[in-house]
Parts: sequence; structure tokens; C-alpha cells
Amino acid sequence: MSFERELLMIPGPVEFSPAVMQALGAKTRSHVDPAFIAVFGRALKALRTVCLAPSAQPFVLAGSGTLAMEMAAANLVEPGDRALVVNTGYFSERMARILQCHGAEVVQLRAPAGGVPSLKEVEHALAGARFKLITLTHVDTSTGVLAPVQRLLELAQRHGLLSIVDGVCATAGEVFRQDAWGADVYLTASQKAVGVPPGLALLSVSPRAIAAWKARRTPPRSVYLDFAEWLPVMEAYEAGQPSYFATPPVNLICALEASLQELLAEGMEARFARHTRMALAFRAGWRALGLQMLPLMEDAAAHTLSALYYPEGVDAGVLRSIREEGAILAGGLLPELKTRYFRVGHMNVVSASDVLATVGAVERALWRAGHKVSPGGAVAAAQAALARDA
Ligand code: PMP
Repeated sequence: MSFERELLMIPGPVEFSPAVMQALGAKTRSHVDPAFIAVFGRALKALRTVCLAPSAQPFVLAGSGTLAMEMAAANLVEPGDRALVVNTGYFSERMARILQCHGAEVVQLRAPAGGVPSLKEVEHALAGARFKLITLTHVDTSTGVLAPVQRLLELAQRHGLLSIVDGVCATAGEVFRQDAWGADVYLTASQKAVGVPPGLALLSVSPRAIAAWKARRTPPRSVYLDFAEWLPVMEAYEAGQPSYFATPPVNLICALEASLQELLAEGMEARFARHTRMALAFRAGWRALGLQMLPLMEDAAAHTLSALYYPEGVDAGVLRSIREEGAILAGGLLPELKTRYFRVGHMNVVSASDVLATVGAVERALWRAGHKVSPGGAVAAAQAALARDA
């Protein structure tokens, strides 16, 4: 029998706080009710703080992370523009497809699975041809790879490029300072470290990107995603005024505001540090179990999820026993390796107890599957890491 106490430890959606679920389930107000206007306005302001982007224009609309990717592309790309995609996995591939769909000529820099194209390779590509735009995937959820976005953004700025950073699996979990690092669009979705059930596309857009959009020769190839429709709506709500282009997802926005207030109460630096602490404790547990991570280098490993190869003689069937032991995990996603690895999300409200419970569930399931483990060893390793970093 399930008592609904299984931990949802996939890379999104994740576990959400009670206050967020309460806001989601509250009576739906009119989208022009003064109380809702105030909530929406506060959510927009808070998003600026979360992205550490006081100068940026936030956008919040109904949709998923893919819609946020498409909104960035639709507004920044014109037919024939050249875009460089720094490819770190499945979601970088998706970005390339979206850019092409909006008329960009796309060059992709790839690395072996689990790797990141080197700064030298990126520098070489940028020196060899004129690009308008570069796209980076902060954390690619398919590989668990964390890209060195700060250094890549420095390169982009040196070459005068616009930049789009996909933060879907990173925002509010991985360190990111949009203004200081000069990212033009930081985009994300609600269902991961931002802490709200799926359904919101979120973007934080620099003044430079707004200027580039204003200077377009041709209109965006989308009505729903055109900044021209949404900018006045966001400005109005932030100024406490009603506005309408398409009905906002009222309850999700109330839940977003609840979550962002919790994030700000924790503080962004403390939140980044907590995600790092949990990730390091997970890594200690995985190491004790003899599990190999998919990222090729430790410093390219995300703090928001772990991507791990199954050990010898174990396959995806073990995910079912891990669930029976109390933790829901995700399978592989990268087509060429899909059956060989699994993923553990550790975002949002993730705590030391979640780390120990999840490592314990994996340890028991592997033991049941006949993998050589000494029961308690991985939990002890994770616990020691948590104690060290306390
Ligand atoms: N980019 C990344 C890095 C992601 O992890 C995801 C979702 N897992 C997406 C984009 C797409 O987001 P969504 O599924 O919400 O459309």
C-alpha cells in the first residue's frame, strides 16, 4: 500500500512546499482583481531578484520550459541570423531545432556525452564566423552537465553576441548572476528549483535583448510569443494596473508568488549553498555505492541532479524497486545512452533527510538486485558529507 510518502526525486517536477500547494488550490480570482494584480506584480519583482538581474524585464506566461525557449528564439532571431549552440545534451539539441524553426542558421559545438565543448573550441568557432547569438544550457538535464556559463558569457560579450541561457534545470539552484555575468535572456520553467508545479514559462530579458528585439527588421514568427504583446502586460501588472493579452494562469501565478517569497526568505546565496551541500552529500553516497556519474569531470557536474550509470548487471528495472523503497527516480534521456543510466533530481525543498532517504532507497534496491554493497555504507558516507558541510 502507498501512503503517498514516496519522495519525488526526478529532475522535475519535484516536491513542492505546502504554502505553494495551498496557493495553487485557493479559489481562482479574476485576472484583473486588484488582489491578483498585486500578487502578479510582486512575483515579477521577485523574479528579478531570483535571477540577480535588477536591470532585466521579467516575463511570466502559461507554458512550459520549451515555450520559454521558443519565446527567446522567436523574439531574438530573424531569418538568416547565425546562432552558435554550445551543445551539452538533449536540451541543447532542442534549442538548435527551435532556433532553426525561427529561421536561424545554426552551428552546433558538440562534446562527447557528459562533456562540455572547451572554451578554446568556442573561442575558435567565434573567431571563424560572425554570429548574432550564442545559446548555452546551464544544466543539461539529460546529462547532468553544468556548463561554465560565466566564462562562456565572458567570451560571448567579448564578441558582441546576444546570449540565451536555458536555466530550466538550474534557476534558483545553481549560482547565476544575470546582470553581473551579462546574460541577455535567462529562461526557465516553474517545475524545478523555482518550486511551482508545471505550467509556467519564465524569462528574464536584458535591456540589450529588448533593444535587439525593437531593432528587428521583420516581426517575430509567432503571435502568442511576441514581446510586443506581453511587454505591456508585464509592465502594467508590475505597475499595479490590469491588462490583457491572453488569460494568465491565475492560480499558478499565485503559487509562483508564494514560492518566490519563500526563495527570497531563504536568500539566493543560502539557496545556492544548500543545493551545493545536498549535491555533494549525494555524490558521497553515489561514490560509496561505486556508481559512476555521467558528467566526465567533477566540476562539470550539476548540483540540481545526479546522472549515474547503472552498475554492472543492473538495468532500468531497478527503478521499480527503488520506488518500492520510497523514492521515485527517472531513467536516462540521452538517446544513445538512455538505457544505461538513471537520474536523481535534487532541487527546491531538497533537504538532508531527503538525501539520506534517497541514498538509502537506492542502496537497499541495489542490494536486493545483487549489487555488492554493504548496507548502511552509502548512507553513512552521505551523512558524513552533510556533517562536514554543516
Ligand atoms: N531545458 C532543460 C534544461 C530542461 O531540463 C527542460 C525540461 N526537462 C526543458 C528545457 C524543457 O522544459 P519543459 O519540459 O518544461 O518544456
